[in-house]
This record gives sequence, C-alpha cells and structure tokens, in this order.
Amino acid sequence: MDPASILITNDDGFGAEGLRVLEESLASLGSVWVVAPDREQSGQGHALTLNQPLRLKRVAERHYVVQGTPTDCIYLAVNTILSKRPDLVASGINRGYNLGDDITYSGTVSAAFEATLMAIPAFAISQEIGEGPISYEAAGRWSASLAQQILKRGMPPDTLLNVNVPRLAPKGVRITHQGRRIYPGGVVERRDPKGRPYYWIGGQSADWEADPATDFAALAEGLISVTPLHLDLTNYKVVDEVRRWNLEL
Ligand code: MN
Repeated sequence: MDPASILITNDDGFGAEGLRVLEESLASLGSVWVVAPDREQSGQGHALTLNQPLRLKRVAERHYVVQGTPTDCIYLAVNTILSKRPDLVASGINRGYNLGDDITYSGTVSAAFEATLMAIPAFAISQEIGEGPISYEAAGRWSASLAQQILKRGMPPDTLLNVNVPRLAPKGVRITHQGRRIYPGGVVERRDPKGRPYYWIGGQSADWEADPATDFAALAEGLISVTPLHLDLTNYKVVDEVRRWNLEL
C-alpha cells in the first residue's frame, strides 16, 4: 500500500509554530503536504476567494504558500497541487482555542469543513493559550495518535472532529458537544489622530453557558475536547414549527 498522503494547513499563516509542530508530529504517518496561507487568516471563517487571482508559491518539496484563505488552501491543494486526493486533512495547530459558537469565525475549523465537503476525513486542532510561553507539544503528540486512528478507521460521513487542547498537561480526553458563549457584546470605540472614531471588536472576556458536556467545560477541567461536527446546519427540532407558519404564496 502507498504511504498515506496527509494535507495540512492553518489560519495562523505558513510561518506559524503550530503548523510546524503539526507537520513534524504527522511526518511518521505518511507524506505530509503543507499548503498554508502566506499570512495570518484567523477569523476569516469559511471565506473562499472568488474575485481576485490566487497566487501560489512552492517553497520546498510538498510545501506551498498561498495568498489566500485556509479554505483556498484546501481547495487549491486538492484540485491543483496534489496528484491524488489526500487520505487525511489536518488543520492547525491553532494558536488559541476554537470553542462553542466561535467555530463559525474560525479559519482553522473551516479548512477542515472544506475537506469534509470533499469527503476527505479531516480534523481541526487548536491549542489553548494563556499567560507565559505556548507549548504545542501535547497537541502535536495527540494529533499523531488521532491521525493514526482516522487513517485506520476512516471518518463517519459528513463529519469532522474539532479538537481543543488545554494549556496545561492534559488530564484526559472527553467527547463533547459545542458550547455556547454568553457574549458581553461590547465594542471598544477610540479616536484616531484626526479625531475620527474607529472601532475594535473582540478582546473582552466572554462567559459560557454552564454545561459539563460542552467543549468549554472539558477545557476548564484540563481535558482535551473532541467535538464531532457536521455540515448540515438544519435545525431539525424546529422544522415542523416553521412548517406551521403561514408561508404559502
Ligand atoms: Mn488562528
């Protein structure tokens, strides 16, 4: 059998340490292709570049830099760069966690979603950060054992795994569901030197709904959180209710 072909990307950019650790961690499992954005793309969600040319640069064997989003990277890698479909896509290791509703903003998770749309097994992995230096070591090691399992078992259809690794040495692993933030909703308003206002989103601390089964709770307890996500966003619980609305033409 051919060695496994593994494609990795991230949203922190090609030079990010988390990407390098992910590459090193997966190297023993097959041939790793690195196709990553040329700069930080955090918060770009599932953006796909449609109205401007995409530049691609090969910087080393199986290493490419894309002037685009994480989703562009997966799209180009699968459709142009790789000669055969990868057996696995891994996205990360992101600098900072991707939990709860935040995942809709996440370029890291969206890259894994893009692979899932192409029916390629995929996971996203993010590292909690805090005070002091960041270590990606535990996340790297755990990525390798997860990748090994996925290559052996495959992935249920339409599914990706969103993995978050706590800042301190993980005490275990919990399969979780997506939590929900309670947003403070604040926007910081400042003035530029010409007196015009500008605005800054993010940075305020947000709380989350208390539920021990969530990704947030697992991290708070020092556990690795693994949330299976799927592409179908339909809220089946309310389909019947909406059917009862008066929406006839
Ligand atoms: Mn990021």
